[in-house]
Amino acid sequence: MQINKNYKNLAQSYLFSTVAKKVAEFSQKNPDKKIIKLGAGDVSRPLCKAVTDAMHLAVTEMGTKEGFHGYGPEQGYDFLRNKIKNYYKRRSVELELNEIFISDGAKSDLGNILDLFDKDNTVLIPDPVYPAYVDTNKMNGRNIEYIDANIENEFLPLPDKNLKGDIVYICSPNNPTGAVYKKSQLELWVKWALENKALIIFDAAYECFISDDSLPHSIFEIEGAKKCAIEFCSFSKIAGFTGTRCGYTIVPADLEYEEMNLNKMWVRRQTTKFNGVSYIVQKGAEAVFTEQGYAEIMENIEYYKNNALVMANTLEKHGIWYTGGIHSPYIWMQCPNNMKSWDFFDYLLENVAVVGTPGLGFGKNGEGFFRLTSFGTYEGTKEAMERIDKLLK
Ligand code: PLP
Repeated sequence: MQINKNYKNLAQSYLFSTVAKKVAEFSQKNPDKKIIKLGAGDVSRPLCKAVTDAMHLAVTEMGTKEGFHGYGPEQGYDFLRNKIKNYYKRRSVELELNEIFISDGAKSDLGNILDLFDKDNTVLIPDPVYPAYVDTNKMNGRNIEYIDANIENEFLPLPDKNLKGDIVYICSPNNPTGAVYKKSQLELWVKWALENKALIIFDAAYECFISDDSLPHSIFEIEGAKKCAIEFCSFSKIAGFTGTRCGYTIVPADLEYEEMNLNKMWVRRQTTKFNGVSYIVQKGAEAVFTEQGYAEIMENIEYYKNNALVMANTLEKHGIWYTGGIHSPYIWMQCPNNMKSWDFFDYLLENVAVVGTPGLGFGKNGEGFFRLTSFGTYEGTKEAMERIDKLLK
């Protein structure tokens, strides 16, 4: 019996476990202090009424002989795939139903997709980045090259003619930095991928936060992307499904490498290793796209955007550099007085009991930066920023 030794190459503990451990220790020592968490990317608003109503109905249906659903289609029910197809059509992206795969969330599929690729590919990952891209590739022993994202390129790295690689990850709006690519910038990435016969893994988990119509929500808004990209999206942030679990992956029908069709390979993979998302959850996800559902979820997104504004105003008052917060729930700030990111984490926790995420946890270029999320409550966010305001004075 031989073990997958690639696991030895993973960092000791997942970023958020380290944060949770430090917070638990602080809480034990200071039981009377009210901790405010602006750290993890979990939402605080409950599911909207249209979603829970649809799920209640689905539960009732499941208890009837006529409405019972056993194993569903591995790729998802057509009622939901059709809604997603129409969602993309609003931005002039034409998808076929067989290009849309319903998943139990973007994180699973981002890891699962790697089943399709050879271990010898070189993967290009921006730094800083959502840690799952790095760890899933390390688990497979794939060679990772990092692309620098920094203040100079506004945390939006672009390809240059010397850049070589087989798979590139792009997350826009970005976690952790909140930066968003413009259409002209994504065009450069698509051009590069086509010229290099590379694949773009596009993570659109935060597309619903984009508030400027000229910014692309999907890589498929870019001409040629259907020949070089797969897109991952999620109901977690748009509709608060972090605990309900539903997402979707778009694998274009014509996507081919070495004469193998990735859409067909993904069907083969999913039908072998996945038995679909529960009917009840897919019914809830479908309700997101009804008029009532969409209005309700947008109200929640506006609520989070308002939190981001509260955070941005405090940082601006103190002249602290930051990105994000407009088309994203994340604010990526520079730590004041050249502090290192874990030092700033400890400083905030110990002095004002506010928790954020140290930038270094997202890669070496995150050193000196700190991520705040707007997914908390308004009251919590306001109080946290008042405490930070006083502290920085
Ligand atoms: N992609 C990014 C960039 C994320 O930040 C997250 C979660 O925070 C995910 C994917 C995971 O989404 P899901 O909840 O659908 O698994």
